[in-house]
Amino acid sequence: MEIKQQRRRALVVGLGISGISTAVRLRQAGWEPEIVERAPGRRTGGYFVLLYEAGRASARRLGFLPAMPDRSSVDRAHYEIDRRGNRTRVPNFSDHPQGPHHMLRGDVENAAFDALPADVKIRFSTVPTKIEQDADGVDVTLQDTTSGASTTERFDLVVGADGLRSTVRRLVFGPHERYLQRFGRMICAFQLSGPLPGLAQEDGAVLLEPNRALWVFGFEDRIPTVMLTYKTDDVDAEFTSPPATRLREVFGTPTGKLLGAVLDEADAAGKDLLFDSAEQVHLDSWHRGRVVLVGDSAWCVTLYAGMGVSAGLAGADLLGTMLQRHPDDLETALTEWETRLRPSVTHWQECAGPMRVLFNPAGTRELLGRRVAARGVRYPVLGPILRRKRTRSMMVKNVDVAAA
Ligand SMILES: Cc1cc2nc3c(=O)[nH]c(=O)nc-3n(C[C@H](O)[C@H](O)[C@H](O)COP(=O)(O)OP(=O)(O)OC[C@H]3O[C@@H](n4cnc5c(N)ncnc54)[C@H](O)[C@@H]3O)c2cc1C
Repeated sequence: MEIKQQRRRALVVGLGISGISTAVRLRQAGWEPEIVERAPGRRTGGYFVLLYEAGRASARRLGFLPAMPDRSSVDRAHYEIDRRGNRTRVPNFSDHPQGPHHMLRGDVENAAFDALPADVKIRFSTVPTKIEQDADGVDVTLQDTTSGASTTERFDLVVGADGLRSTVRRLVFGPHERYLQRFGRMICAFQLSGPLPGLAQEDGAVLLEPNRALWVFGFEDRIPTVMLTYKTDDVDAEFTSPPATRLREVFGTPTGKLLGAVLDEADAAGKDLLFDSAEQVHLDSWHRGRVVLVGDSAWCVTLYAGMGVSAGLAGADLLGTMLQRHPDDLETALTEWETRLRPSVTHWQECAGPMRVLFNPAGTRELLGRRVAARGVRYPVLGPILRRKRTRSMMVKNVDVAAA
């Protein structure tokens, strides 16, 4: 497939981390990216994310690493708590030399957005409704969801960076059911309006019970965010009542002070509350002709892997590198991009299962095993074994997978 050199026009669908980063990188590679976003404006805030070197290296090359704050607090404590108010100090799962940086999803989005050249066209309230391609280009019908008006435009490349339930994937690759794999877990995340009772602002906490968990993520310089996650046997039914109501049903009473305060905040959070099922995306190929998927739309690893942001940044970065390396051959560029990236993404997807036990143990046995793994780092014989295991997994996350 040849790429016309005079004007290489790319449509990026989705203004999340993967979409913005891809647009930044495409412009660096000499393309003319345009972005469409379903929402009427930019998102703000977001939840706690860990950023590993795999993502940091790409953000460095993309030019916006220095604009991403590391909100990790050196002095913070992390507690395992229960509903009666007892708490035990436990090692923080992400404490590690050269470990991940702590920030909000919005911190990454803002840094990437600020790096986007001002003349990159962004259309909000706009979605693709039809995508048809031939050997020379892609015709995309775009609908303005405010006016209902549609236009069809031609592009040299279409990048679907439109998240877990990607419209680009549905239109070009097929229905969601073919590619989504459910974890049987729900996730709810939001920002608090103030510190929680009995917990310093920078401290973290976890309440672990069979099949349900509450996480409080503290930051050095801002109010914590929280995540509640629980097991479900019927994902579809989870979306039939308001999220805050569902959380109260699942987490039950009496709540105790800290969980009670979190559930009160969930009642007040309204649309700022993220409530979704944990699902992975599995496709045999992330590109078809002139259409390529990047980020959660292609490979969603789930939050349990802690690598979705890093993978999105690395995917965007490497895509630009391959397009620069094969300026006249799109098929080769996309094939080499996927060949390089897929082993790491597959590994991160595989990590999500064991990591799910850390975040949301299923029953008493998993809960006990998880406690031993978390606290055992302090024991004389078990400690070095567990630390070696943790270092190995950290090394995988700290590899610059998109290095040229
Ligand atoms: C609670 C939680 C904690 C997490 N923790 C971590 C962590 O610690 N570390 C980590 O690396 N990752 C983490 N992740 C995962 C990470 O946040 C995601 O993998 C990453 O943000 C995905 O970015 P994306 O740009 O690919 O997709 P998204 O963020 O989903 O962005 C997609 C964009 O496309 C837009 N869109 C959707 N449909 C359309 C359409 N039809 N037309 C136009 N636009 C459309 C959406 O509005 C959105 O703006 C976590 C996720 C959650 C939920």
